[in-house]
Amino acid sequence: MTRHTSAPVCLPNMGYSTQVFRRRYIQSMKRLPLTPGQIAELISNVALFIEEQRQAHAPGSRALSDAERKQLAVHFSVDVLDGVCLARVKHLQNPPFYTELESMGFQNLPPFRRMAAVTFVDVIVAQDEFTSSLLLHELVHVVQYRELGLQRFAELYVRGFLETGEYLSIPLERVAYHLEGLFRLRPDLAIEVEKQATSF
Ligand SMILES: [Zn+2]
Repeated sequence: MTRHTSAPVCLPNMGYSTQVFRRRYIQSMKRLPLTPGQIAELISNVALFIEEQRQAHAPGSRALSDAERKQLAVHFSVDVLDGVCLARVKHLQNPPFYTELESMGFQNLPPFRRMAAVTFVDVIVAQDEFTSSLLLHELVHVVQYRELGLQRFAELYVRGFLETGEYLSIPLERVAYHLEGLFRLRPDLAIEVEKQATSF
């Protein structure tokens, strides 16, 4: 996921600080710790949602433009650039399982309406313009999906969120933000994304 460009990328602009975010989460987890069965169900729901969204958005998507490819070619293999699809939507919608999680006491789920873009395997769905830094960040996720597979990606995303209590601390996101930061500083300097995408 990528945060809105008005806020730090992939980070939802929640309107309150990360510390408050973490405190609210930890409080909710103290009240309602998830059982291993509930965690497994959540991972399964996340993986299903990703695949459903991928299939829903793929038909209306497009390939990278020549200009976009030129900006990204030094950082990614031809396979990755050839395989990715881009789709624009007016609004990204929260997953259906958010309702149940919120009723269980989760108050810090990243709202999709505050995301610039979300990547579903190889389909990047954005409600913001596709800037080069947005694409770099989301393509890191594409590489992570390729290296880990959908199920493992979903598992690491959910476990990372549950263990840290905050979206930005999910290892998959930390790597994407780190590489995006390098790209913003020196977009011409080759980043070995495929070596670093799952180095956590
Ligand atoms: Zn992200």
